[in-house]
Amino acid sequence: MEKYEIETLLAQAGNHSPEDPYGTVATPIYLSSTFRHGKLSDVDHFDYEKQYAYSRMANPTRKVLEQTLALLEEGTKGFALSSGMAAIELVFSLFKSGDEVISTNDLYGGTFRYFDHLSEHYNLNFTQWDGKNNNELVKKITAKTVALWIETPSNPTMKKTDIAEISALVHGINPDIKVIVDNTFYTPIYQKPLALGADIVVHSATKYLSGHNDLLGGAVICKGTKIAESLTFNFNTTGAVLDPFDSWLLLRSLKTLPLRMRQHTENAQAIVKFLQNSSAVSKVLYPGEGGMISFYLKDKSKLALFFDNLKIISFAESLGGIESLVTLPAKQTHHDMPIEQREKLGITDNLLRLSTGLENSKDLIDELKNALK
Ligand SMILES: *Cc1c(COP(=O)(O)O)cnc(C)c1O
Repeated sequence: MEKYEIETLLAQAGNHSPEDPYGTVATPIYLSSTFRHGKLSDVDHFDYEKQYAYSRMANPTRKVLEQTLALLEEGTKGFALSSGMAAIELVFSLFKSGDEVISTNDLYGGTFRYFDHLSEHYNLNFTQWDGKNNNELVKKITAKTVALWIETPSNPTMKKTDIAEISALVHGINPDIKVIVDNTFYTPIYQKPLALGADIVVHSATKYLSGHNDLLGGAVICKGTKIAESLTFNFNTTGAVLDPFDSWLLLRSLKTLPLRMRQHTENAQAIVKFLQNSSAVSKVLYPGEGGMISFYLKDKSKLALFFDNLKIISFAESLGGIESLVTLPAKQTHHDMPIEQREKLGITDNLLRLSTGLENSKDLIDELKNALK
């Protein structure tokens, strides 16, 4: 299927699948934890890529999803996990005590919390980089550096890092350093990190990939058979796999990803225009594509009133779904980040983050107009 465009790949995901003997067009949900062996010799010559034994190792529904994820991100292998954090944890199973990791400094709050945990309890060393200054990045690379972790556009301040340029730079110094990109915000519709030179992509599939605010999931997609083998072993060993039902639901959701992303962008661009002209807003941060917008309220004392006046847009964590959501990062997603770093990055008490949904943009703008009065 490689030669087709992304819309075709996704619409056809699971159709003509060798996993299904009946010619189903939609992938069935295989709710079986275990699989019967034929005879003793089957166990002796077991091919884990082609056969099934136990659903932690492989499940037919999950496999169709994982193959789709790999195609979508143009990787060697995909893994579907029970949450975005489980996906991040799987990636870090590649590293060991004493290793050094450089990361961009504006990250999803949970990732930041996990890095703190790894440095406190597992002796992994993290240094931060602003995602922009290449000379600074080069200075931070040592003989112990194993990975560069990038979130772009960053959350919540929408800073962009050039994946192609940075991958070439880092691999030029040491080809073994893994460039890892959290592609949750842009999705492969707007950005394919592996094609740009990165080694591993992670997603919180809870967000745009599933897109309906109805499941928790994570994805890891890697390039190269060596990383794929290590991840396969660690995935099966630690076991944070996505269950067959949610695998099916995520696969179903992926089929409309291109359509949804286009509409998220169209709605967000209309809202950005409105916010930029609103006298109640001092600054708007928008990376150009996708549905995520951050903006600063001029008058912090109007915050409670703003939330009270929302009827369509829900005051709730998460993003990337059909329903519009708004969050206050300083008090929610980024609460665990030290206040000094928050202030430095501009994650202040008057910064709001809007996940533009798929409602009619005119209704969303009317609602914001009223809430910002
Ligand atoms: C939500 C999110 C995560 C964590 O994913 P969960 O599915 O909530 O575990 C990681 N990275 C980014 C950018 C996110 O938005």
